[in-house]
Amino acid sequence: MSGQPAALPLLQMALRVEQDIFVIRQRGREVAAVVGLEHQDQVRIATALSEVARDLLRTTGGADVSFHVDTAADGRFHLRADLAPMSPLPDGRYEPQSGAVSRLVDTLSVSAVEGVTVVRMSRRVPANAPTPTLERLAEFRAELGRTAPASALDELTVQNGQLISALDEVRSQRDELAVLNEELAETNRGVLALYNQLTEELEETNRGVVALYAELDEKSAQLRAASESKSRFLANVSHELRAPVTAIIGLGRLLTDSASDPLTDEQGRQVDLIRSSAADLLNLVNELLDLAKAESGRIEPELAEVDLRPVFGQLRGTLRALATRPEVELVVEEPSGPAVLRTDEVLLGQVLRNLLHNGLKFTERGEVRLRASHHGDRWQFEVSDTGPGIAPELRDRIFEEFYQIPGATRVGGTGLGLPYARRLVTLLGGSLELTSTPGEGSTFTVSLPVGGA
Ligand code: ADP
Repeated sequence: MSGQPAALPLLQMALRVEQDIFVIRQRGREVAAVVGLEHQDQVRIATALSEVARDLLRTTGGADVSFHVDTAADGRFHLRADLAPMSPLPDGRYEPQSGAVSRLVDTLSVSAVEGVTVVRMSRRVPANAPTPTLERLAEFRAELGRTAPASALDELTVQNGQLISALDEVRSQRDELAVLNEELAETNRGVLALYNQLTEELEETNRGVVALYAELDEKSAQLRAASESKSRFLANVSHELRAPVTAIIGLGRLLTDSASDPLTDEQGRQVDLIRSSAADLLNLVNELLDLAKAESGRIEPELAEVDLRPVFGQLRGTLRALATRPEVELVVEEPSGPAVLRTDEVLLGQVLRNLLHNGLKFTERGEVRLRASHHGDRWQFEVSDTGPGIAPELRDRIFEEFYQIPGATRVGGTGLGLPYARRLVTLLGGSLELTSTPGEGSTFTVSLPVGGA
């Protein structure tokens, strides 16, 4: 705090005898009123002054009292009272007798001013009070000088009045508190009601969710039943279809047999057409039957120790017949060293044949390769080709039943091979995954446990 705007004190007084305490109290209130402190603050600083004056009269035999107006760093004005004791403070410190005194003012401290120790207190002047310019301060000083201090009795009367108004204020604050309490209780009731309502809504929602789950369970049971009956239907229909289709193929063969009556060229071509369509149909029926069997859990893998080398040899033999394009080489790599795992030889053969067959169907030049490798407790079979590859967004779809990539060269097929292969691999306790780069080729990887499913 700087000494501005007034270095000169507004008022100076001496505290020597008991009587002076009243005068200091009264004058302190007057000074506070003059500089613009509100009524309550006038009483507060006057009360603090009389308490401190009483303490100092007792401990130091009196003091010189002066009042000042200071400007704080934030530009606000403060009323300051300095009480310079007549003799040094005990231990150079000052503790008010009543602890409440420091709460009546903004600051209460012991400060050294030009080598003299003073007890200093201050209270902020409200922002709406007129600015105490030098002229106004001079006026204040003159005004305070004019008014003579009243008697102790006068001050007592004033003090009584202040006490009454303080009591009044306490009462009105109590009333305000009661109103606030009532409002709080009201709010509490509101919160409670809201809480109850929310709890009810939550319970309602919960009931809805439970009902939904029940419905969901029911739907999935229905779906399971539907899927089972589909598999059953497929199995039955394909089974029933196989006999007549086989008969058509047989009859076609009989018709074109050299021992039968000769056919005209046209008839011969038509019978060939019937035979090849019937062969396609038989193929589809067989694949449907296989898939339906795998789906309905009617395929039980027969696990045994399988040596991969003869299995690979057989694959090489049977697939060579399908590798008709001279630009495509079929490479079946002989496993190096002992290659034995516990699995179902027939099912594994079917899966690998299916993948190799696909590779040969879709690859126009380059190679189709089968390779096996051992990794910890798994065997990995990679069927890779240098074919057209499969776009990332279709890599899951090709494992769906009947899905065939549109626009691919029509090379026949049913769209059932891959879903069937994946189902078999799952039955064997393994997995079938695909990695592919469009334009470069695809690799299907079958991973099987060494110890069987
Ligand atoms: P299918 O071969 O009888 O059509 P699949 O289920 O075996 O049925 O294959 C589904 C589709 O996935 C095929 O029609 C083909 O579009 C695609 N596909 C399968 N293997 C390959 C491959 N090696 N390279 C490119 N596309 C392939």
